[in-house]
Amino acid sequence: MSNKQKRVMVTGGAGFLGSHLCERLVKESQHVLCLDNFITGSKANIKHLLNETNFELLQHDLVNPIILPVDQIYNLACPASPVQYQSNPIKTIKTNLLGAINMLELAKKANATILQASTSEIYGDPTMHPQKEDYWGNTNPIGPRACYDEGKRCAETLFFDYYRQAKTRIKVVRIFNTYGPKMDLNDGRVISNFVVQALTNQDITIYGKGNHTRSFCYVDDLTEGLIRMMNSPDNFIGPVNLGNPDEISILEVAKLILRLTQSKSNLIFRDLPQDDPGRRQPDIGLAKERLDWQPTLNLKKGLIQTIEYFKTLL
Ligand code: NAD
Ligand code: UDP
Repeated sequence: MSNKQKRVMVTGGAGFLGSHLCERLVKESQHVLCLDNFITGSKANIKHLLNETNFELLQHDLVNPIILPVDQIYNLACPASPVQYQSNPIKTIKTNLLGAINMLELAKKANATILQASTSEIYGDPTMHPQKEDYWGNTNPIGPRACYDEGKRCAETLFFDYYRQAKTRIKVVRIFNTYGPKMDLNDGRVISNFVVQALTNQDITIYGKGNHTRSFCYVDDLTEGLIRMMNSPDNFIGPVNLGNPDEISILEVAKLILRLTQSKSNLIFRDLPQDDPGRRQPDIGLAKERLDWQPTLNLKKGLIQTIEYFKTLL
């Protein structure tokens, strides 16, 4: 290892976002430790990195403690798709809480900087629009999404308590809907569902009337934001929103994907899941100011790349 090279752990490194981050860090010649239990991630996402001398894969479940020398930790481990995180909600909340504690203890002992992948979901079904970091949110503590959103809220609490009590160097980012290549075919999130349905001429499943909104960020833009936040001055700890502020309704997303794939799929309307947030759009003023960061790729261009990826899988 050279003097400048850092030992960087990415938990959830075999998942969608984690694998992009590992790839970028390997290219930047960091020594990357990818930790994953493969609950939603896959070896296929990282197999091209396995022969790199500065990449190590550790199969480990974050609910169990682990101690090893590291300089930086990106804590991404947790299923992010509502279908996936609700399929085993107790495991999800254990990953969020025990995982956060285990990684914060590791950061404390190793004197590492730790970044938490928090989420726009901590704002719940927001009554403030767009969402700024000082909004406390509107979540249901006993609903089906709570294992994820309350788990992530409590993880933020843990991060700030370790910061105040143990002086741990923390960074908290709130990630808004991100999409791109390496999303799992059966992941269940809207972009992967619609693209796969469109490419295979299956019905496009719109939950509710399709008037719910999201703001979609391309994965490369998000990866850049994560790296900038990790390497920002120690006194900038967040939370900071990372996402693309271009808001769009789910119906419009479906129509755009149909156009880009030239698909003949029909739109069908299904029940809206309980507590599904009605609107979501990040205010990214803080990220612009403190990280000089903003997304560069619009939804159409990002979707074209994502569609090409899914074509190679199907
Ligand atoms: P993903 O499901 O593709 O990846 C999660 C990874 O974590 C998988 O590789 C999975 O196997 C691993 N994992 C889960 N539980 C684990 C455990 N107990 N021990 C070890 N590994 C475990 O999801 P993603 O989209 O890549 O999301 C990554 C992180 O970013 C998550 O923490 C998620 O909450 C956050 N996030 C993502 C988005 C998004 O739009 N992609 C939005 C907000 C927040
Ligand atoms: N959605 C949909 N059809 C699908 C999957 C999702 O209409 O096949 C909707 C979902 O109800 C939500 C939005 O798309 O309003 C985004 O859902 P996703 O699961 O991608 O992420 P969320 O932002 O809800 O965590």
